[in-house]
Amino acid sequence: MSSSKPPSGPQAEIDPNSPLLPADEMVLPTLHGDGRRRWLNPALAQGKYWQRRRILAYALIAFFVTLPHLRIGGKPVVLLDIASRQFTFLGHTFYPTDTPLVALLMLTVFFSIMFVTAVGGRLWCGWGCPQTVYLEFLFRPIDRIFSGTAGKGGKPKAGVHAALQVGRFVVYLVCCLFLAHTFLSYFVGTDRLAQWMQLSPFEHPQAFAVMAVVTVAMMYNFLFFREQLCMVACPYGRFQSVMLDRKSLIVTYDIHRGEPRHKGKSLDPKAGDCIDCGHCTAVCPTGIDIRNGLQMECIHCTQCIDACDDVMRRIKKPEGLIRYSSQDALDGKSHSWLRARTLIYPILILATSSLFVYVLTTKFAFDVRVLRTPGNPFTVNPDRMLQNNFQIRISNRTSGPQNYQVIMKQPAGATATWSDGTPTLKPEESKLFPLMITIPVSSIAGRGTLDGWAEIQDDVGNVREIHLKIQGPK
Ligand code: SF4
Ligand code: SF4
Repeated sequence: MSSSKPPSGPQAEIDPNSPLLPADEMVLPTLHGDGRRRWLNPALAQGKYWQRRRILAYALIAFFVTLPHLRIGGKPVVLLDIASRQFTFLGHTFYPTDTPLVALLMLTVFFSIMFVTAVGGRLWCGWGCPQTVYLEFLFRPIDRIFSGTAGKGGKPKAGVHAALQVGRFVVYLVCCLFLAHTFLSYFVGTDRLAQWMQLSPFEHPQAFAVMAVVTVAMMYNFLFFREQLCMVACPYGRFQSVMLDRKSLIVTYDIHRGEPRHKGKSLDPKAGDCIDCGHCTAVCPTGIDIRNGLQMECIHCTQCIDACDDVMRRIKKPEGLIRYSSQDALDGKSHSWLRARTLIYPILILATSSLFVYVLTTKFAFDVRVLRTPGNPFTVNPDRMLQNNFQIRISNRTSGPQNYQVIMKQPAGATATWSDGTPTLKPEESKLFPLMITIPVSSIAGRGTLDGWAEIQDDVGNVREIHLKIQGPK
């Protein structure tokens, strides 16, 4: 991947009064040479890729907004309940005890991203990422309505009227409020959110504060930060250089066909097809020139393809001077989808996803976790019985209420008793229950610790074995 070229054109603009030293080379395409922000107002190329992206974008917006409302078996399809450390995905709830399952799921997602990127480049960035989808298909259309020529990518002839600026701000605010509520519903669920929306903010100040912070963050992002998020904040853009190879699908300029570029018509038979019209850079939402080669800032949005195809049609040349291709294909080398990484990633995806499904389908009907009660590790009662206290976290994974019995299996002579009576849990409920283990002091004498094993059984006969480290005098 080539790095960005030295500044030229608007990137080289330097304020003579700036107290800062100008940079020797371009740091970001969105910065002037003296460090000032170079505000981008990309024009719109309404070619075939834009038409397809627009259909997908509106389908995705509908999907993002609808997803938290969908249910499977009465449970949300997606609910990331951070407060109670429970994640529901496709109707299945993961608890803190499900770390291996969550790890397998994350690995499957991670390998899938690596695979998609190795094959299709930054398809996600250009076509599916919420940042691109909302910025390009919700907020930029608002700019085109309210910001005059600047919103349409042209040079502003006059300042935008204050009423229009206020109008734009208000429409942005309404959109961001809506998006912030949608975002919040992924974490608290639509039912709770609907309840809160009917109450005063003073009755749920934390949730209201989160919503307000998310709204402000969205306003900042879509009004000011914009393409900078892809360039300086998103880790995926940084990682792509290790995920792409010379056979990955990328948006690229055909240097062999386009160069030497020339302005306007040329009678030179050696002249390339690029007429240096600048349309590809005028539409670029990250402010780069695709003709400088593959750059980290390119989100593969295909706007430059649409712009250049339009130019090619007008000058009666074949389309595709900028197109989807690979670096090897451009260099005339054979192109094959089959290579080490496109074989290894699917194998890894199959392995982690199969393991995930296996663990998920063979999981117990309830989870148990043993914690030692804080304080004195043991007490010796007047009847010479040693007592150890534990806290047992039980998570009921069934859809019915359950009672849990405990039976001490080892060592001989030990007994296990629920201190607060038999635990009962509602469906999907998870709670801590105190458990008391007693054993004659003589059983542990001289050893200090003893391994104990107990079984916990629910109403329908599911059994979990737990290990208890019994402590006593040496
Ligand atoms: S739009 Fe096409 S012809 Fe115009 S400058 Fe870009 S690559 Fe060259
Ligand atoms: S170079 Fe082309 S594909 Fe890349 S971000 Fe700019 S317009 Fe989009």
